[in-house]
Amino acid sequence: MITTPALAGLPVVWHADCLRHEPGGEVWLGVWETGTEVPDRATVLLDALTAAGAAVTDSRSHGNEALLAVHDAELVEHLATVWAQWEAGGYASEHGRTRVVPYVFPTPGMLSGLAMRSPAATHGRVGKFCYDTMTLVGPGSWEAINAAADAAMTAADLVAAGAPAAYALCRPPGHHATRHAYGGSCYLNNAAVAAQSLHLAGAERVAVVDIDAHHGNGTQAIFYDRPDVYYGSLHVDPGAGWFPHYAGYAQERGSAAGVGANRNLPLAPGTGDGGWLEALEVIRADVRNHGADVIVVSLGVDAAAADPESPLQVTSTGYARAGELIGALGPVVAVQEGGYDLPSLGGLVVAALGGILAGA
Ligand SMILES: [Zn+2]
Repeated sequence: MITTPALAGLPVVWHADCLRHEPGGEVWLGVWETGTEVPDRATVLLDALTAAGAAVTDSRSHGNEALLAVHDAELVEHLATVWAQWEAGGYASEHGRTRVVPYVFPTPGMLSGLAMRSPAATHGRVGKFCYDTMTLVGPGSWEAINAAADAAMTAADLVAAGAPAAYALCRPPGHHATRHAYGGSCYLNNAAVAAQSLHLAGAERVAVVDIDAHHGNGTQAIFYDRPDVYYGSLHVDPGAGWFPHYAGYAQERGSAAGVGANRNLPLAPGTGDGGWLEALEVIRADVRNHGADVIVVSLGVDAAAADPESPLQVTSTGYARAGELIGALGPVVAVQEGGYDLPSLGGLVVAALGGILAGA
């Protein structure tokens, strides 16, 4: 019997440079650990998507217009140059510090009202841009960061040109990166860049639907005061002790002209398909009210039961159903976020994307 592959015709946008980011672990609670945001994630995904019949296409290089609309030029410059500065400073060769890790953070409490400076020492300056100790930069990091943003923009181009759906295999992920800072294993906000690209291509209203297990504090922050880009997220409750700890609460509804265009649905640890899909319905109602022309999905599959990074218990059937429900809302640009259980990662993403195609 001949069956049609699950993802036949779906454009998967990818660039091999995404493999060049090797964080080499993370410093978590003061201890260097192996880390889970590894290059193998992308390899596993690529294999599964190819096996499911998706059409893999290379990303193409983009200018900075969308990027600089959602990120400070100073952050982009820092990410593009910090490894060279680290090397030139001898941190790696003379001191054995093989990755860029911040150690001092100019928090509001430290500055106590003083103006922000740009410290002379590279090791002093990193904390101005990086808000945690687990988001490391190494030799090929910038090439991967840049390639991931290009993949997101290329997928947005395809949908702007009429494709009902496209998927960007972005690595590193992006939704924790704010306008000014990186963290949470994210450097540039790929989903925000995709949303902004769609806006520049003529979409008047864009909705970002974030189904990663964690709150996308970066995406929320970037669009918090904008009425034209809605952000809705279902995630494990930061109030129950989960990253990003400082954002992701239900009362965060947007500011200024963006009031009402932000929705958080924090979920109790242990939430499975039922509660998760119920929360998605709240976001779907918002997206319909918002009148979005196009949807960007922050497709993290770390809400799955087997994932080591979250206590949510979503199944691959749940991901397939979520895909269908989102696909029914309009054209979709899916952007890869988290998902760290290598044995199940590919199947989960294929299930979600298959759902999006079925729902479209
Ligand atoms: Zn996550």
